[in-house]
Amino acid sequence: MQQPTDLSPRVVTLGTAGGPRWWSSRTGQHRHGIATAVVVGDAYYLVDAGLGVGRQLERADLSFNDMRAMFITHLHSDHTVDIPSLLTMGLYARDTAKAPIAVFGPGDRGMLPPVSSRAEVAPQPVCPDNPTPGTYDMVHSIVQAYATDLNDRILDALRPSPLDCFSVTDIQIPDDIGYHPNDNPTPAAMAPFEVYRDDLVTVTAILVEHPPVAPAFAFRFDTVAGSVTISGDTTATDNLVTLATGTDLLLHEAIDFDWVESAYGGGKTDTEQASIDHHRVSHTSPEQAIELATRAGAARLALHHLVPGNTPPERWETLAATFAGDFLIPHDLDSISFARQDTNTHTKVGA
Ligand SMILES: [Zn+2]
Ligand SMILES: [Zn+2]
Repeated sequence: MQQPTDLSPRVVTLGTAGGPRWWSSRTGQHRHGIATAVVVGDAYYLVDAGLGVGRQLERADLSFNDMRAMFITHLHSDHTVDIPSLLTMGLYARDTAKAPIAVFGPGDRGMLPPVSSRAEVAPQPVCPDNPTPGTYDMVHSIVQAYATDLNDRILDALRPSPLDCFSVTDIQIPDDIGYHPNDNPTPAAMAPFEVYRDDLVTVTAILVEHPPVAPAFAFRFDTVAGSVTISGDTTATDNLVTLATGTDLLLHEAIDFDWVESAYGGGKTDTEQASIDHHRVSHTSPEQAIELATRAGAARLALHHLVPGNTPPERWETLAATFAGDFLIPHDLDSISFARQDTNTHTKVGA
C-alpha cells in the first residue's frame, strides 16, 4: 500500500501522571492519568487508558475515528481506569462505519501472586472464581456491568454495541521463553515479539519487570520515519534496553524515591517498609532511566508516568546535562516528534 509522504510521527502525552491516585494539583501541576497517543500520519494508536483519557483526546484534537488500535501495558488500574469511558462514551464519538478498534493487552495472569511474607493472616482475594482476568475478560465484564445502559442505547437509540466497536485480543506470550507469572515474569535475554502490524506501524513487545504484576509489557512502534519505545511500568531492566536499542524516542516511567520514603513514613514499620520495597523493585528513578536510554542509544528520552503525579518538571530538568540526547519532562498534551534526526522535537498541541 502507498504510504503518505509526510508521516510526521509523534507522540502526544495525553496523561503523564502515574499511580492510582487523584493527585493534588496544588503544586500547579495538572497531570492526567497515564495515556499516550502515538500519531502516524492521519492515524493514531493509544497506549494505556488512564484517568481522563477521553477528554484529553478531545483536547488534543485527536478524533476517535482516527484511532486504529489500543495497547495496554499491564492491568493496573491507573492504566485501565478509563477503558469503561472509552467503551461507552466512545460509541458517540466514532463513525459506526469504521472498522473496530483493535485492543491488545495482557491475558489472564493464570494464578494469584504469592501472599506477602509480612502478612500475619493470609488475606482473601476478591472474585475467587475468576481472580486474575485478562484484557478480554475485563472488557467483557465492563460491558456486562453497563448492560442496562448499553441495551437501552442499542435497542432504543440504535447505537452499536461496544463489542462491535472494539475487538479485543489477549497478547500471547511466546511459549518457548520460560515465562511464568510468579517464578519468571521477565525472562532474561528474550527477544521482542510482534503484537500488531499495519501499513503504518509494526508494534513489538517485550516483558518488563513490575512485580507482582505479570505480564507487564513495554511496546515499540516502528515506522518508516522513526520509532518510539514506551516502557510501561517497570524497574530498570535489560529487556527494556533490548527493545529500545536505536530508538528515536524512549518514553520511560520515572518515580521520585525520596517522595516514596517520605510518603511511607521513612519505613519505620514493616508495612511502611513493604511499600517502599515494592516501589524500589517495581519502578525506575530518573537517573536509572537516563542510564537505560544511554545504553539503548536512544536519541531522545522523555520521562512520563511521573510519581508523584504532581511533580514539577524542575525537579528533574537539571538531569538533562547527564544525557547526550534530548531530555524532556513533558506536560500533558505535549507533542514530541519521533522522526529520525528531527530537530524541532517538542511543541504544545492542546488547549
Ligand atoms: Zn502505573
Ligand atoms: Zn503499574
